[in-house]
Amino acid sequence: MHLLVQVLLVLGTIIGSCIIVLPLVIWHANTHSYICRKCGHEFSISVLKDLVSPHKLLKCPNCYKWAWQKEIKKIK
Ligand SMILES: [Zn+2]
Repeated sequence: MHLLVQVLLVLGTIIGSCIIVLPLVIWHANTHSYICRKCGHEFSISVLKDLVSPHKLLKCPNCYKWAWQKEIKKIK
């Protein structure tokens, strides 16, 4: 019985943090762009990519080079 409570607690924590983190990641992906350090090309990434690359090591869609891209705020 104790094990079940622990499993539920762990699951609750995981689901809870997803609910908090997901809107933040979506907001971040929609409001930020990146500038390629190699060629200066400005590009945005998808929510999924933003979620899996918090280190910002991204491949430029223009010159296809991997770099630690510079993050900028999107101007609307
Ligand atoms: Zn580039």
